[in-house]
Amino acid sequence: MSNNWEQNEEIQIFRDYLRIPSIQPDNGYEPCVAFIIKQAESLGLPYKVYRPGGPDQPIVVITWEGTNSELPSILLNSHMDVVAVFPENWTHPPFAAEMDSEGRIFARGAQDMKCIGMQHLATIRALKNAGVKLKRTIHITFVPDEESGGKLGMDKFVHTEDFKNLNIGFSLDEGVASEDEVFSIFYAERFMWRLHLKISGTTGHGSLLHENTAGCKLNYVLGKLMARRQKEVDRLKNNSNLTIGDVMTINLTKINGGVQSNVVPSLIVAVFDIRIPLNVDDEEFLTMIKTWCEEAGGGIEVYLDLREPKVESTKIDSSNIFWTAFKSAFDELGLKTRELVFPGGTDSRYIRNIGIPALGFSPMNLTTITLHANDEYLKAETYLKGIEIYKKIVQKLANA
Ligand code: ZN
Repeated sequence: MSNNWEQNEEIQIFRDYLRIPSIQPDNGYEPCVAFIIKQAESLGLPYKVYRPGGPDQPIVVITWEGTNSELPSILLNSHMDVVAVFPENWTHPPFAAEMDSEGRIFARGAQDMKCIGMQHLATIRALKNAGVKLKRTIHITFVPDEESGGKLGMDKFVHTEDFKNLNIGFSLDEGVASEDEVFSIFYAERFMWRLHLKISGTTGHGSLLHENTAGCKLNYVLGKLMARRQKEVDRLKNNSNLTIGDVMTINLTKINGGVQSNVVPSLIVAVFDIRIPLNVDDEEFLTMIKTWCEEAGGGIEVYLDLREPKVESTKIDSSNIFWTAFKSAFDELGLKTRELVFPGGTDSRYIRNIGIPALGFSPMNLTTITLHANDEYLKAETYLKGIEIYKKIVQKLANA
């Protein structure tokens, strides 16, 4: 069996792409761009390279024109960058794309998400070779910078005239593998806050009992935030319909302050990573935090150095023709789906933010989730099955 995979053209292309170490934030994009252009040429499709985020932040767009090209087009997006590796913790070199006897291909980006970028191209190749013609134009994009937030990639691109000219009606981007049989479809994302509390307090000798110290105030506010966190932990535990994307997550991620162990500090800074679900009134929650800070004794500066906008979710009902088309592909293939709110952030939020429906989906079920982990891998068999799923989805979307 493994011999078949070795010689499979799609597996070879996938493995070649995985061998490019496009680690974020190092700039390794140019070899990716060259590789993707080579693919476009072999497909006989036109491409363009845009650099809205700067000369080192290329975006490649490959276009397959539809027979009815004035209709809004379909975007198939993937990011070229991958997260860092600690090779000493891997059993295979992370950029060799070695395949074992079970067909497991080991490489950074095997799941997140070089697989999807190449599956998009493989899908177009298969459809073109079969003589299929689609109504809507398909744009296959390869973007940089996703792993550090997409600010220099998709976030920049969606606000350009070049993007507008693509006339996108619907976008498909990454999701996450699922370990069971059911495919996870993501129609929304929580929005992220980075909350800073700059807590001032009475300073003095560490042997006394001063009032209103920064430590006392931190204890009070932290207690309130952790109580709220526990409420979310309990909600998640007690309601099997909820997933992590449906609840608020609050995590204390940094604490700074103090000069010396016997001096009560005048300032402690605490930083929290907070992800807010769509049904929470974030303005009300911020007011609540400010109230807790007053109750703690005041002298606390509350600020958010990152406050993502609340982005409308993509409709997953019959009002969205692309949803109906997308879902019908799974129904016809007899594949089960579950619809979820994505727990982290992807480039889809920038697409949704400008009013374009977007779904996140990775065609990997019965797959151990190894994205961002050591020994990230994808099975050749899963990769090839994914192309079959995309063939159905893409035809449905482009003919919707
Ligand atoms: Zn990703």
